[in-house]
Amino acid sequence: MKQFVADRVIIGDGEQIIDQGAVVVDEQGKIVSIGLQGELLHIFPQAEVIRYDGCTILPGLIDLHVHIGYWWSKPDVAQYNDGMIALMAAKNLQEALSLGVTTIRDVAGPDGLCRTLKTAWKKKYITSPRIFDVNQGIIMTGGHGWQLKGGMREANGPWEVRTAIREQVKAGADWIKLMTSDRTPTPEFTQEELDAAVDESHRLGKPCCVHASLQPAIQMAIDAGFDTIEHATFMTVEQAKQMAKKDIVWVPTMITFFQIANYCRKSLEQAQKTESFVHEHLKQQAVFFIESQKAYSENFARLMETGVKIATGTDIVLEGFPITPVADEIGLMVELGMKPIKAIQAGTQNAAEVLGQGQRFGTLQPGCHADLIVVKGNPLDDITALKSVMEVFQEGVSVFSKGRRDNQSRE
Ligand SMILES: [Zn+2]
Repeated sequence: MKQFVADRVIIGDGEQIIDQGAVVVDEQGKIVSIGLQGELLHIFPQAEVIRYDGCTILPGLIDLHVHIGYWWSKPDVAQYNDGMIALMAAKNLQEALSLGVTTIRDVAGPDGLCRTLKTAWKKKYITSPRIFDVNQGIIMTGGHGWQLKGGMREANGPWEVRTAIREQVKAGADWIKLMTSDRTPTPEFTQEELDAAVDESHRLGKPCCVHASLQPAIQMAIDAGFDTIEHATFMTVEQAKQMAKKDIVWVPTMITFFQIANYCRKSLEQAQKTESFVHEHLKQQAVFFIESQKAYSENFARLMETGVKIATGTDIVLEGFPITPVADEIGLMVELGMKPIKAIQAGTQNAAEVLGQGQRFGTLQPGCHADLIVVKGNPLDDITALKSVMEVFQEGVSVFSKGRRDNQSRE
């Protein structure tokens, strides 16, 4: 038995904080007790005490919007055969653990990749966050992401959409994902197709999520009744209220929009300075991301106040950006008006509930898996403390420790 002790323990439920707290974990990696360290030392005198002075213990972070096998943005795509993609994904999974992420939901990638990664994790070939995945994303012919060879399944008409869903379930998907908007107001799937997708997913016992950034795709996704809506960048307050009523969870993935908007702004400025030619298509993309950033900045606080449940996802696919920056997404939520304790809940309990795993992890409670992280400092005072990850445990086993040699990449 082990007893982890820190200056404070954040439970992850958006409320409880235990100053001078401790978490007692048994040999099976389950949490036995949480409480004041002084009291627990007496109740579990046999437990080995591991002390983290100046630190905070909280549940492992959850990223609901990851593309762990996204190789399409690599500058040397020709080198990416299946083996290389799997090795890259394994490296991405290590990076996720080092950022305190102990569970991910992968929302579209190469056919069969996540199933292989999950099997390799079970066999202990790799360490990895726990993976829930959709296998391939489902799009209309020429829909959002059609260029991602092998990562998308094109389907048209309600029955072909149902077929595509059955294929993903056959391939081991835990969730179903559709994409239904790109960079213009034209929605991609019809209402009939979206309704069929939700019906078929639920009929087969699978929850379903949908990529919808713009109007009217957002409203169509709400009407269809998906379990989570990804991005919903230009959502209105009225729509957030509808989502709250229908228990549809919002996964805004703001961090990726902010990072790409900043990148676009810099590139456009640079192009202006050097008077170089910018392709019209790139200009359109830049405008979309800059407007998206503006919409999130202006609306997030009002949308949050409707009571719509919000959970963390990051969606980083650009080469050169770190994968799964959940701490940055939580940081943005705080910057845009959410209380730190609630933003942490978005990345822990809320996300675990989305996955139907609220009783297994996502909060620090007796009976739950000991998926916990230790960060330096106090994230309730300074949310960036979430980025100072010292230790990461999954089911009580250390999967990352800052400064340990085997965490270091050769690059
Ligand atoms: Zn995505």
